[in-house]
Amino acid sequence: MNLRFFLLLALGFSLFGASAQEQENAVRTTFHTISSHDLLDYAAELSSKKYGGRLSGSPGYEAAARWVAGQLEEAGVKPGMADGTYFQWFPNAYSDVLSPGKVLLLPGKHNARKRYHFPDDYFPGSNSASGTVAGEVVYAGFGISAPELGYDDYHNLDVKGKIVLLETGLPYNRNDSTLLKWEPYSYHRYKFSRARELGAAGLLYVSKIANPNTSFLEGLVYAHISEAVAEELFDGTGKQYAETRGNIVKSLVPNSFRLHKRVKISASTKHYPDSRSCNVVGIIEGADPQWKEEAILVGAHLDGVGSPGSLFPGALDNASGSADILAAAKALAASEVKPARTVIFLFFGGEECGLYGSQQFADAPVWSKEKVVGMINLDMVGNGTGFFMSNGKTYQELYRHFEEANNRFLHREMNASETRISYGRPRTDAAVFDKYGYKTLSLWTSGSVKPVFYHHPLDNTDALTPEIMEDAAKLLYLGILGIANDPALKTN
Ligand SMILES: [Zn+2]
Repeated sequence: MNLRFFLLLALGFSLFGASAQEQENAVRTTFHTISSHDLLDYAAELSSKKYGGRLSGSPGYEAAARWVAGQLEEAGVKPGMADGTYFQWFPNAYSDVLSPGKVLLLPGKHNARKRYHFPDDYFPGSNSASGTVAGEVVYAGFGISAPELGYDDYHNLDVKGKIVLLETGLPYNRNDSTLLKWEPYSYHRYKFSRARELGAAGLLYVSKIANPNTSFLEGLVYAHISEAVAEELFDGTGKQYAETRGNIVKSLVPNSFRLHKRVKISASTKHYPDSRSCNVVGIIEGADPQWKEEAILVGAHLDGVGSPGSLFPGALDNASGSADILAAAKALAASEVKPARTVIFLFFGGEECGLYGSQQFADAPVWSKEKVVGMINLDMVGNGTGFFMSNGKTYQELYRHFEEANNRFLHREMNASETRISYGRPRTDAAVFDKYGYKTLSLWTSGSVKPVFYHHPLDNTDALTPEIMEDAAKLLYLGILGIANDPALKTN
């Protein structure tokens, strides 16, 4: 049979020899097998202690990847790699953080000794060297030396043997072409190497999130501190932390100086430079002999930030997206109405370390890019009441399948955006696919109903609203089916 000759229905589905009503009934039957109960189960499994927060490169991540592969196999979703496995491997160094460590304010002229607390005041550095450093604290702004931009936070500043207090990100915050010149300085890796090059012994980073997207540098001990701690370190200098930072951003003029405080940072870590990680790749071959050469990619990152000091379960980020695409894959595999095009499910590793997994896929695609009709990515899709699709207004031909599914079956609030030129450094897997020229849509949930604990120990299953996860998986099932069977769609 050849599905292309069938009149496609309002939703774009087709089932050989069946009436419109029979097809819709078949779709509805599968649709109703997707339940919030199962979705919560998947998210709870992935968030559980045995996977240790799914740090890419670690044994915990690999175990989670194997669990996903087992689920796909059980559902009849085939291995997507040429070697007959589900695993696309790539190098992925990582560090184990063995304890929360310590951050101490040492007694000085104007202050008493103070011990800061994990997780309220600080998080240990995910790639900190193991050991203890103590020294004077120097505020070095954004930690950037960019002579060609007329900007140097380290101008006339001696940080040798000292602990630098640094901002993440860039002082330049306009999304225009000048941002391109600043971009190389936005990387944590750049800031860490620059500080190390100038002889800094340790580093305090203002942004209290766990973040493995930093580099391990021999001997460099660091921790992430809250803005409140930074503010305290400014006490007695006659300046305020938030105001100082704000003025640098406003004026683009560095303002670095000694804080006349001494701090001690201890970290207990173990670095694994030669580890590897993987994407999990599952495939549902298209039912049409010709159309099956064309594919739709559906992705979500499976990795999390691990257990730096305690378990960071990564439930919303991104067990939610992984659970959603797993449920959609199972539904599609069981669906009586088959996708005419091929559907490839991608559970990315290494996203939190710097988009390693999506980069690996883009560099070594398992499907020819010219034969891909679109890429749908899910990140943090488990808290809210509505849907949002980035790039939906640009790729209307893809988006309309989700919009129609929502209007017809789900009735959630749903919005979309146009593609905007993005100058900053890519921060999601979707950005990698965008950059490589795939028509990429990102599905998000909107209207948060619970507090979001981003890269935080409290990002557990209590942070999820399973009802929206059920509907996201249903939306995916219908939308993917619609795209897979739409004769009007063209590949790249
Ligand atoms: Zn994420």
